[in-house]
This record gives sequence, structure tokens and C-alpha cells, in this order.
Amino acid sequence: MHASGVLVATREHAGFDSSLPKADAIVTSEPDLPIAIFTADCVPVCLTSRDAVGVIHAGWRGLAGSVIPRTVESLRSLSEGRITAQIGPCIGPCHYEVGEDVLDSFRATHPSAPDPSVVIEGSLRFDLRAAARWQLEDAGVEVSSSKVPCTFCDHRYFSHRREEATGRQALILWR
Ligand SMILES: [Zn+2]
Repeated sequence: MHASGVLVATREHAGFDSSLPKADAIVTSEPDLPIAIFTADCVPVCLTSRDAVGVIHAGWRGLAGSVIPRTVESLRSLSEGRITAQIGPCIGPCHYEVGEDVLDSFRATHPSAPDPSVVIEGSLRFDLRAAARWQLEDAGVEVSSSKVPCTFCDHRYFSHRREEATGRQALILWR
């Protein structure tokens, strides 16, 4: 279960502490304070701006719950100016089969977004990358375009859908 909370990290949060609040995204303006998220099919996003950085773990629930625009908003409260984003390896529509209910949860909260559904070989897929990119651009963030591998297709990455019991990719960022 993923929440859509955003943690604004300070030095007090440093270290591995079980009392840390649950969050799907972290932002910080502290220099030399690494922030990290773990994924294995969900969309990892890193955000950079002049005075702050952010990392996001965006699954379908997070996307529907607007974790991306919430994180961008938190970053803006810490830093002025341009924000740039990069989207990391995540499961592609080639392998992300979902039910109509999953897509509906995104459509319901983002009625003006382009429909992120794709039909491949007669089955319904959710293009998580397209939805994440749209949310970033809609929030005024510049997204670096690079080809993002599918974690299921590319065996260099862990994939929850491919292996069930698997590891996680870490996205670690600091300023
Ligand atoms: Zn794939």
C-alpha cells in the first residue's frame, strides 16, 4: 500500500529510523543529505532545482493520488526557479496489464489528462511513464527526455511483476 505523502527532510531525519513518517516522496533543501526511494516496477522520479532536490516513488495509486504534483509543490516551497525531472526505469505498457478500475482511479482524479491506457494484444495496459510525464509537465516541470527501459523486459533491473520476490532499485539524490 502506497500513500501520497511527501516528507520534507531535514537533518533530524538522517539515518535509518523506524519512526520516520511513511512517504512516497521526499524533498530536501539540506546540502549533503542524501534522500532515497526504492522501486521495482513503479516509476522513480528525481527532481532538481536551484536550492532543493526531490525523489518520488510513483505507482498507480501514487499517480492517482497526485504524488507528483504534491512533490513539485513541496519543492517549490523550498526553492525558486526552474525544476527539471528525470524519469527512471519502470514497468512499460508492454508488461503492465491492469484492470479498468486501476485506470479509472487515475482518470477520476485527472479528468484533463490524456488517457494513459493502451491496448496491446487485446489486453488493457497502463502507461505509467506517460501519466508521470504528463503530471510533471502539467506542473510546469521540464522533463529530460531519455529512453526509459521497462524493468520487466530488461533483466538488469528488478521487477516485481516478473519475479514476485525480488530486490529493489534505489534512487539516491543529494545536493
Ligand atoms: Zn516490458
